[in-house]
Amino acid sequence: MALRVTRSCPSCGAVFESGLDRREIGIPFVECKECGQVIILNHITEWELKSVWQKCAFILITIWTAVLYASGAVIIGCAVEWLATENIIWMNAASHSLVVYGIGLLVTIPIGIVLLAKDIRQSKTRMASPKYRVLLMSAGLLKD
Ligand SMILES: [Zn+2]
Repeated sequence: MALRVTRSCPSCGAVFESGLDRREIGIPFVECKECGQVIILNHITEWELKSVWQKCAFILITIWTAVLYASGAVIIGCAVEWLATENIIWMNAASHSLVVYGIGLLVTIPIGIVLLAKDIRQSKTRMASPKYRVLLMSAGLLKD
Protein backbone atom coordinates (compact mmCIF):
# COMPACT_ATOMS: atom_id res chain seq x y z
CA MET A 1 0.00 0.00 0.00
CA ALA A 2 2.78 2.39 0.88
CA LEU A 3 4.04 3.01 -2.64
CA ARG A 4 5.64 6.32 -3.43
CA VAL A 5 4.28 8.04 -6.50
CA THR A 6 4.95 11.20 -8.42
CA ARG A 7 2.13 12.71 -10.46
CA SER A 8 2.74 15.24 -13.18
CA CYS A 9 0.63 17.35 -15.51
CA PRO A 10 -0.14 15.46 -18.77
CA SER A 11 0.11 18.69 -20.73
CA CYS A 12 3.27 20.41 -19.45
CA GLY A 13 4.88 17.72 -17.29
CA ALA A 14 5.07 19.84 -14.12
CA VAL A 15 5.01 17.68 -10.97
CA PHE A 16 1.99 18.53 -8.84
CA GLU A 17 2.05 15.72 -6.31
CA SER A 18 4.72 13.51 -4.86
CA GLY A 19 4.40 11.17 -1.91
CA LEU A 20 2.68 8.04 -0.72
CA ASP A 21 0.07 6.52 -3.01
CA ARG A 22 -3.27 6.69 -1.24
CA ARG A 23 -6.91 6.31 -2.18
CA GLU A 24 -8.70 9.29 -0.80
CA ILE A 25 -12.00 11.04 -0.36
CA GLY A 26 -11.63 14.57 -1.66
CA ILE A 27 -11.71 16.99 -4.58
CA PRO A 28 -11.09 14.79 -7.66
CA PHE A 29 -9.19 17.34 -9.73
CA VAL A 30 -6.43 19.93 -9.47
CA GLU A 31 -5.45 22.87 -11.62
CA CYS A 32 -1.86 22.75 -12.87
CA LYS A 33 0.08 25.65 -11.32
CA GLU A 34 2.28 25.91 -14.42
CA CYS A 35 -0.14 25.81 -17.35
CA GLY A 36 -3.60 26.03 -15.77
CA GLN A 37 -4.78 22.70 -17.20
CA VAL A 38 -7.46 20.94 -15.10
CA ILE A 39 -6.13 17.49 -14.21
CA ILE A 40 -8.57 14.71 -13.25
CA LEU A 41 -7.26 12.61 -10.35
CA ASN A 42 -8.09 8.91 -10.48
CA HIS A 43 -7.08 8.22 -6.88
CA ILE A 44 -9.34 10.84 -5.29
CA THR A 45 -13.14 11.00 -5.51
CA GLU A 46 -15.99 12.44 -3.54
CA TRP A 47 -17.88 9.90 -1.43
CA GLU A 48 -21.05 10.36 -3.51
CA LEU A 49 -19.13 9.58 -6.72
CA LYS A 50 -17.71 6.32 -5.40
CA SER A 51 -19.34 3.04 -6.39
CA VAL A 52 -20.83 0.77 -3.73
CA TRP A 53 -17.79 -1.49 -4.17
CA GLN A 54 -15.37 1.44 -3.65
CA LYS A 55 -17.28 2.48 -0.51
CA CYS A 56 -17.06 -1.08 0.91
CA ALA A 57 -13.35 -1.22 0.06
CA PHE A 58 -12.85 2.09 1.88
CA ILE A 59 -14.56 0.81 5.04
CA LEU A 60 -12.55 -2.44 4.90
CA ILE A 61 -9.28 -0.51 4.49
CA THR A 62 -10.22 1.65 7.50
CA ILE A 63 -10.74 -1.46 9.65
CA TRP A 64 -7.62 -3.15 8.24
CA THR A 65 -5.50 -0.09 9.06
CA ALA A 66 -6.89 -0.12 12.61
CA VAL A 67 -5.93 -3.82 12.93
CA LEU A 68 -2.40 -3.04 11.69
CA TYR A 69 -1.96 -0.23 14.24
CA ALA A 70 -3.25 -2.50 17.03
CA SER A 71 -0.79 -5.21 15.91
CA GLY A 72 2.00 -2.65 16.11
CA ALA A 73 0.97 -1.96 19.71
CA VAL A 74 1.25 -5.71 20.47
CA ILE A 75 4.76 -5.92 18.98
CA ILE A 76 5.89 -2.93 21.03
CA GLY A 77 4.17 -4.41 24.12
CA CYS A 78 5.97 -7.76 23.65
CA ALA A 79 9.32 -6.04 23.15
CA VAL A 80 8.85 -3.99 26.34
CA GLU A 81 7.83 -7.09 28.31
CA TRP A 82 10.80 -9.05 26.94
CA LEU A 83 13.24 -6.26 27.81
CA ALA A 84 11.72 -5.62 31.26
CA THR A 85 11.41 -9.23 32.43
CA GLU A 86 14.38 -11.34 33.40
CA ASN A 87 12.70 -14.75 33.34
CA ILE A 88 9.93 -14.18 30.88
CA ILE A 89 6.92 -16.52 31.18
CA TRP A 90 5.68 -16.79 27.61
CA MET A 91 2.14 -17.84 28.57
CA ASN A 92 1.80 -14.62 30.54
CA ALA A 93 3.39 -12.63 27.72
CA ALA A 94 0.88 -14.12 25.26
CA SER A 95 -2.11 -13.29 27.47
CA HIS A 96 -0.79 -9.77 28.02
CA SER A 97 -0.45 -9.44 24.24
CA LEU A 98 -4.11 -10.39 23.78
CA VAL A 99 -5.14 -7.74 26.30
CA VAL A 100 -2.96 -5.14 24.54
CA TYR A 101 -4.45 -6.22 21.20
CA GLY A 102 -8.01 -5.92 22.51
CA ILE A 103 -7.37 -2.48 24.01
CA GLY A 104 -5.55 -1.46 20.83
CA LEU A 105 -8.54 -2.41 18.66
CA LEU A 106 -10.92 -0.62 21.02
CA VAL A 107 -8.88 2.53 20.42
CA THR A 108 -7.88 2.26 16.75
CA ILE A 109 -11.19 1.10 15.21
CA PRO A 110 -13.26 4.00 16.66
CA ILE A 111 -10.51 6.47 15.61
CA GLY A 112 -10.57 5.05 12.08
CA ILE A 113 -14.37 5.29 11.91
CA VAL A 114 -14.39 8.86 13.28
CA LEU A 115 -11.79 9.95 10.69
CA LEU A 116 -13.70 8.27 7.85
CA ALA A 117 -16.96 9.85 9.02
CA LYS A 118 -15.26 13.27 9.06
CA ASP A 119 -14.01 12.80 5.47
CA ILE A 120 -17.49 11.72 4.34
CA ARG A 121 -19.10 14.71 6.11
CA GLN A 122 -16.68 17.16 4.44
CA SER A 123 -17.29 15.46 1.08
CA LYS A 124 -21.06 15.84 1.51
CA THR A 125 -20.62 19.52 2.40
CA ARG A 126 -18.66 20.12 -0.84
CA MET A 127 -21.23 18.16 -2.87
CA ALA A 128 -24.06 20.26 -1.41
CA SER A 129 -22.72 23.33 -3.23
CA PRO A 130 -24.38 23.82 -6.65
CA LYS A 131 -21.27 25.71 -7.84
CA TYR A 132 -19.06 22.73 -7.01
CA ARG A 133 -21.46 20.34 -8.79
CA VAL A 134 -21.24 22.49 -11.92
CA LEU A 135 -17.43 22.31 -11.71
CA LEU A 136 -17.58 18.50 -11.44
CA MET A 137 -20.01 18.32 -14.37
CA SER A 138 -17.77 20.46 -16.56
CA ALA A 139 -14.85 18.17 -15.69
CA GLY A 140 -17.01 15.20 -16.77
CA LEU A 141 -16.97 13.67 -13.28
CA LEU A 142 -20.66 14.12 -12.54
CA LYS A 143 -23.64 13.31 -14.75
CA ASP A 144 -27.18 14.80 -14.72
ZN1 LIG B 1 0.63 21.81 -16.71
